[in-house]
Amino acid sequence: MGSAIMETKDMRIINRTMQKLQSNNMAAYYAETAAEVIPLIKRLIKPGETVTHGGSETLKQCGVIDLLNSGTYNYIDRSKAQTPEEIEKVYREAYFADTYFGSANAVTESGLLYNVDGNSNRVSAYLYGPKQVILICGWNKIVKDLDEATYRVKAFASPQNTKRLGCETYCAKAGECLSVGRDASYMCDGCRMDGRICCNYVISARQRQRDRIKVILVGEELGY
Ligand code: SF4
Repeated sequence: MGSAIMETKDMRIINRTMQKLQSNNMAAYYAETAAEVIPLIKRLIKPGETVTHGGSETLKQCGVIDLLNSGTYNYIDRSKAQTPEEIEKVYREAYFADTYFGSANAVTESGLLYNVDGNSNRVSAYLYGPKQVILICGWNKIVKDLDEATYRVKAFASPQNTKRLGCETYCAKAGECLSVGRDASYMCDGCRMDGRICCNYVISARQRQRDRIKVILVGEELGY
């Protein structure tokens, strides 16, 4: 399995990835900087729309959550949910949102989205429910293929997320998945611990509903 992953920003790869996303019926946009993301989003959603999001460092870094919470939109605020019942209610309400925001764990150069989730409210909303899904991805999320996507999650994304979230997992302590380095047939391999965040592996290919999923690629490193 390769461990390269794009090490520096390469506009040829970014442009090719955007073309492939579009050929898979996903709208693709480019923002040179994180600061350009908000003006772009303002063009894609209307005041008063119901909006929410999955857990994402990228959204915080781009100021998206502050925008959603600005009073301009009907924001389903997951941070206000405290009890398990309230949290479940918020997660279910998200399926009726006009727009659901998030990021992807990886975007392949062939225009596939790769996401791995534990609770899976995030990936399930990507698949069905919200009228549109807007994913913001730094160029560092672009990978050559699904092998690299798998590696990226096992070696970087999941360990950093389990550490951030305080999950009791092998990777939170060791810094990488115990199955890192095996080939892609071991995509679903990993720990058997209760805090595992790699439960559902979702690959989004060509979409039936054109442009329901919109991907904003950003020319900065963002998220994990
Ligand atoms: S399977 Fe377990 S150890 Fe491997 S990346 Fe996921 S949470 Fe970490």
